[in-house]
Amino acid sequence: MDKIKVAVNGAFGRMGREVSLAVLEDKGLELTGAFDLNGQGKDMGEVLGKGALGVIVQEFSSQTLLESKAQVVVDFTVPSAVMGNIELALDCGVYPVVGTTGISQDDLKIIAGWVEKAGVSIMIAPNFALGAVLMMRFASIAARFLNQAEIIELHHDQKVDAPSGTSIKTAEMISANRRQEPSPREELIKIPGTRGGTAENVHIHSVRLQGLLAHQEVIFGGLGETLTIRHDSYDRKSFMPGIVMAVKKIQELRGVVYGLENILDL
Ligand code: NAP
Repeated sequence: MDKIKVAVNGAFGRMGREVSLAVLEDKGLELTGAFDLNGQGKDMGEVLGKGALGVIVQEFSSQTLLESKAQVVVDFTVPSAVMGNIELALDCGVYPVVGTTGISQDDLKIIAGWVEKAGVSIMIAPNFALGAVLMMRFASIAARFLNQAEIIELHHDQKVDAPSGTSIKTAEMISANRRQEPSPREELIKIPGTRGGTAENVHIHSVRLQGLLAHQEVIFGGLGETLTIRHDSYDRKSFMPGIVMAVKKIQELRGVVYGLENILDL
């Protein structure tokens, strides 16, 4: 079978390097393009310590994307660039697999319009770690029985957006599965922000510290009991099996696929 040709946008970044390596190491995939604002002119193989590959880091444009002959482009860039990147890839008829966070529900509607016009599907997942997808699934089951929930998400101190896309998605899943909304309570807030932010009536608390990578706890409260569901990504490699799975599957999918759970047999 022919290898799937894959380009990586944000290839010089932390996730992009790991994704490029995962593509290189998978027998079914071929790395044909590397795009980033940084590292332009460098050979991606050398960046990864694998020797020259002839895949040179370039600016992301219609011309460079089409020249790469990529069928799929994996995007791990920055929230401010991701919408433009998606539009460009779809315009070129290239299937995007997007891990960059910061995509809102309104953005998803805009993307759905582009996807329909382009006739190419897209996979967007706020978290490609299999354990994180299971954590969200377990949280959505717990929400049916325990309607009070708070989320604590913890990430490395270089993360630019807060709260994390995973925490917002978890809050949406909890809200969709709750049988009853928690009763509102009056609180005396002495320092603004102490109770975190709220999404879908779920409090989210964001912690940013050196030493962390990507972690989340969902704590449910019930009568005389709590239930804590926790997931930890200790290494960026934790995202790679999910990303590789999405890259291999995307051309068989239709429309906007939001969340890795859609291609797992849960
Ligand atoms: P990073 O190290 O900052 O890498 C992003 C790279 O993209 C940087 O080199 C950046 O350059 C470059 N870039 C910015 N704008 C660009 C553009 N228009 N075209 C091409 N390249 C561009 O960040 P990271 O830690 O790899 O994370 C990337 C994204 O993935 C973040 O949104 C993060 O939250 C998300 N993430 C998602 C998952 C998941 O499972 N879905 C997992 C981990 C991380 P500059 O430095 O010059 O901006």
